[in-house]
Amino acid sequence: MPREIKIGAHLSAAGGLANAVFSAESMDLNCLQIFGASPRQWRTKLPSEADIRAFKSARKAAGLEEVYLHAAYLVNLASPDQEILSKSVGNLAEHFRIAQELEADGLVFHIGSGKELPKRTAMEKVAEGVRSILKEIPGPAKIILENSAGGGQKLGSFPEEIGEMLELIDSKRAAVCFDTAHGLEAGLIPEYTISGVKTFFERWEEAVGWERTPVIHANDSRTAPSSCHDQHENIGRGYIGVQGFKNLAAIEAVRMKAWIMEVPGFDGDGPDSQNADLLREILLTAKRKAKSEK
Ligand SMILES: [Zn+2]
Repeated sequence: MPREIKIGAHLSAAGGLANAVFSAESMDLNCLQIFGASPRQWRTKLPSEADIRAFKSARKAAGLEEVYLHAAYLVNLASPDQEILSKSVGNLAEHFRIAQELEADGLVFHIGSGKELPKRTAMEKVAEGVRSILKEIPGPAKIILENSAGGGQKLGSFPEEIGEMLELIDSKRAAVCFDTAHGLEAGLIPEYTISGVKTFFERWEEAVGWERTPVIHANDSRTAPSSCHDQHENIGRGYIGVQGFKNLAAIEAVRMKAWIMEVPGFDGDGPDSQNADLLREILLTAKRKAKSEK
């Protein structure tokens, strides 16, 4: 039976991919995000067959509903530097291959920055890169563009740009992730008030479409609205706040997504039970409230 909400976190796969599943279980999560390979190296190492098998059987036993991989931070599909661009495409392709091997639902990546390039040229580069990766690597896992915190010519801080890139990519195998902290930092949602999230919801629906957005990166923001500075904070402790998340979760089409935390943790060790409990309570309260109002 599917659980009432989908909640997960980015967890460490140190010592074996299955360990991330065990951590998710211990936090009572039913979704998970991991790195399939090192996020800070161009070179990738495919996990061993035994590691892949152990991961898949642990996932099955844990009954995880959705699993995502996060790509390396080095990737910039819009880079004007030919060498960085080709390394980016190659590296992202390898992470995407691992996502398919692990039977993950998708690979989330940061789109990148075109630096001095005109925006349209930069977006065409991104689309070209994604299309070549999709062509090279078949499989059901989706390649997922994440909205950015903006600044430095970063692409995809606003839904219209993401929508334009989706159009250029022109594939059902491309999807989108919405990061709540980046949305605030980019000035897309300066305030997570009821009217603020409603305006955002409609704008995103129009430009991207919620049916193309399977995953929410649920992070509070340590930095101010429109700061264009990407710094995640624990749930309820940043500029979004508990009420801000409640307002967003009140919208059913958003609440139904997989909410994945990438928070620093109350002990600084990454997503923990305290954050998971907070987010679960927010989602369940919103669900109960919606039910009682029906
Ligand atoms: Zn994110």
